[in-house]
Amino acid sequence: MNRFEGKVALVTGGGRGIGKATVARFAAEGAKVTAADLAFDDDVAGLCVETDVTDRDAVEAAVARTVEEHGGLDILVTCAGIIRDNLVFKMTDDDWEAVIATHLRGTFLATQAAQAYMTQHGGGKMVLISSSSAQGNRGQLNYSAAKAGIQGMTWTLAIELGRFDINVNCVAPGFVSTAMTRQTAERIGVDFEDFQKHAAEETPLKRIGEPEDIAGVIAFLCSEDASYVSGQVIYVRGGP
Ligand code: NAD
Repeated sequence: MNRFEGKVALVTGGGRGIGKATVARFAAEGAKVTAADLAFDDDVAGLCVETDVTDRDAVEAAVARTVEEHGGLDILVTCAGIIRDNLVFKMTDDDWEAVIATHLRGTFLATQAAQAYMTQHGGGKMVLISSSSAQGNRGQLNYSAAKAGIQGMTWTLAIELGRFDINVNCVAPGFVSTAMTRQTAERIGVDFEDFQKHAAEETPLKRIGEPEDIAGVIAFLCSEDASYVSGQVIYVRGGP
């Protein structure tokens, strides 16, 4: 498929994990892509722009650089994310602030900067990344609040931006094999392989997700096949 020939995509958190797989998918289908991240794996299939998504100037500069180098901006995917898990009685102000800032402020700044361009240039597509944890998860008070907030942002952005031909949707993954889930295994002191096996057993499809499973759904939502889909949250977790 070559669904993104002539299109330009910006992926925050595109330096590794789900974001990197999304960059690769867009590039493989013909898009010019920017990965905006704090750090990058060696094999990112796009222009790497060092960006802290909590920094307004940096986010605006990443959008400007994308437009300058690739000639426009048609697609935004907000994948940048962190976890700072702790049970509520142990959660520090810093745990709370860092997660809220990265996910909520980061998504706010990126969508605001992208809409400033897209509303003036014929529209576009946005996909925001939430999580199964939006529905509650032990040890993730900060992260579940942020990920539920991202779903609220999706609905509001879809309502506000629809008139500019901008589709805004949200993908909420379950367990995906990345550095983030490895970090969780390390924190709770279990072997990552065992942790993944256990997650697979708990999943109706009896396997865990790979970054490509998420990238495929993001790409669909940014494609013309999904042009009448907006304001939707799609759980991608191998089950209901
Ligand atoms: P990851 O840790 O591999 O990738 C996250 C990326 O975000 C990293 O490259 C990191 O450098 C970047 N990032 C963090 N803070 C940033 C900042 N301030 N500015 C710019 N970039 C920043 O994790 P992942 O699993 O690929 O996660 C991608 C997204 O998917 C995240 O939003 C995460 O919350 C979400 N998610 C992951 C899972 C999972 O099981 N892995 C499940 C549900 C949702």
